[in-house]
Amino acid sequence: MIEIENVHKSFGALEVLKGIDLTVEKGEVVSVIGGSGSGKSTLLTCINGLEPINTGRIVVDGTEVHAASTDLNRLRRKIGIVFQQFNAFPHLTVLENVTLALRKVLGKSRGEAEEIAARQLGHVGLGDKLKVYPGRLSGGQQQRMAIARALAMSPDYILFDEVTSALDPQLVGEVLDTLKLLAEEGMTMICVTHEMNFARDVSHRVAFFHKGVMAEIGAPDQIFGAPERPETREFLSNVR
Ligand code: ADP
Ligand code: MG
Repeated sequence: MIEIENVHKSFGALEVLKGIDLTVEKGEVVSVIGGSGSGKSTLLTCINGLEPINTGRIVVDGTEVHAASTDLNRLRRKIGIVFQQFNAFPHLTVLENVTLALRKVLGKSRGEAEEIAARQLGHVGLGDKLKVYPGRLSGGQQQRMAIARALAMSPDYILFDEVTSALDPQLVGEVLDTLKLLAEEGMTMICVTHEMNFARDVSHRVAFFHKGVMAEIGAPDQIFGAPERPETREFLSNVR
């Protein structure tokens, strides 16, 4: 599980995370909602150790992410992360894009890497695109390739940062369906999202971030149906 305890994080004089506490259990799906600049992305990058924290601690399966002794490369294999914009290698096929880390990071043979990559690409509905170059894919297909690439590393957790925000509206559904499938399969996920219907239907808990504070967290029915904090109510009234 992921345990976040009283995490403070600043960029220079700007305090972006002001004491975040959150525990995510194995198999849980937590959606993170909130206004722009509230610290959602920063939290994700702190969880997988891309960013240092100032105080507090983040512990993943007993390993303290920011401890000096922690092997971050090893830890990151456990925690996949998928961003809003996927940087595919344009000169590599879809299959090659997914096999790359399997070969370079995990040291898999070409054959084994291709088998794993093909399986995960099939899983996200891209089984017929293995030999295609990423430039030929739609935005939604590119994001599904990014998800397949994360899955190929057999992570225990996946962090999703607004993976549908850059997509044309008609492509959002196919990516959300993929996330929903993973959730149903029991993947432990933290999803920063603007898709309130997804947050309501798929997550076990929804966390509302406001100005670096987790202002409210609860079951989707509570957050969307009976938010307790005025900030939550105001945010929801503006996005709906
Ligand atoms: P959100 O994802 O909720 O929109 P972010 O976590 O991206 O918010 O950003 C929170 C705040 O931290 C913003 O004010 C943003 O400008 C600032 N910030 C984010 N990353 C950096 C960085 N690398 N350096 C300086 N400031 C940053
Ligand atoms: Mg963000």
